[in-house]
Amino acid sequence: MFVKKVEKPLKISGLEALLRRISANHPSREKIIEDLSMCRAGFYGEQSLEYFLNQLPQNEFRIFHNLRFETPTIFQIDFFLLSKKFILILEVKNMVGKLEFDEGFGQLIQIKSSGETKIYNDPVLQASGHKLNLEKMLLSSNLNFPPITYLVVMTKQNSLITVKSQNQNYIKKIIRSNKLLNKITELSLQHSKELITEKELKKITKFLLKSNQEREQNLLEDYGIEQSDLIMGVICDQCSKTPMKRICGRWLCLNCKFISYDSHLSTLNDYILLIENKITNNSFRRLTRIESSYTSNRLLKKMGLNSEGDKRHRVYHLPPRGFGMGGDKND
Ligand SMILES: [Zn+2]
Repeated sequence: MFVKKVEKPLKISGLEALLRRISANHPSREKIIEDLSMCRAGFYGEQSLEYFLNQLPQNEFRIFHNLRFETPTIFQIDFFLLSKKFILILEVKNMVGKLEFDEGFGQLIQIKSSGETKIYNDPVLQASGHKLNLEKMLLSSNLNFPPITYLVVMTKQNSLITVKSQNQNYIKKIIRSNKLLNKITELSLQHSKELITEKELKKITKFLLKSNQEREQNLLEDYGIEQSDLIMGVICDQCSKTPMKRICGRWLCLNCKFISYDSHLSTLNDYILLIENKITNNSFRRLTRIESSYTSNRLLKKMGLNSEGDKRHRVYHLPPRGFGMGGDKND
């Protein structure tokens, strides 16, 4: 069963927000689009594994998607499967073209159909590094845990994989996603003995969730964008034009005449992703381009947010993962 389910990474939502909020000719736009498409490809690959992982015996495996630790070594694990017999780390790669794993040089060479060649760090080496870091982390926390093994899962079915190595132990670490279930069955047979108790399993689960640390993102800084570069105003859900106008307690799009009651929430979500998760009435007014301080204040109050401070200095706390993004369930 999934303990930490597959969820869209905040970075993807953040980059999408950024593209909505910068002008069409902003110099950083191209780079953001490129990075977003890379992040999405990675996430699609991970999402495609969900189908296979859901077929595993529910009681046997606890599955975690996307764990990130700062131990202080920073490392991130795509999927973590915990059973009483063994632990399995999955490093997922969603890459197209000809892919050559080169053990000797510790590299992965990608040749795309356009002829473009890219060199990456060897994912097998990466995954074995994660295993060592994990062992260190679990040992130093005095947790009893079963042996850790790892696999690199290639999710693009039409890529051509070759491996430059004579080492069977190395070659066996690389699989395609359609072989994942077979491989896990094989591992289950090799590790047939239960080595930890239910209580110890729960302890590890708790420890992992507690130690998981999401990367603090500051996309404006990463892409050299000033807050003043961001386009303010409520975006129309229908035609994506800005700004909608607040009239008689509703939002009206002057472009397509779409009317909504809560379009300020998605604008606040952009604010949370790009700036911070607290807001004053003044900043809210600037953000939503509501002219009257009274109207903006009333709308903020109606949202029932926690707040601190008085009057003009009152600060409202916004949900860190946004409104209605389905992210709070895991927190
Ligand atoms: Zn509109």
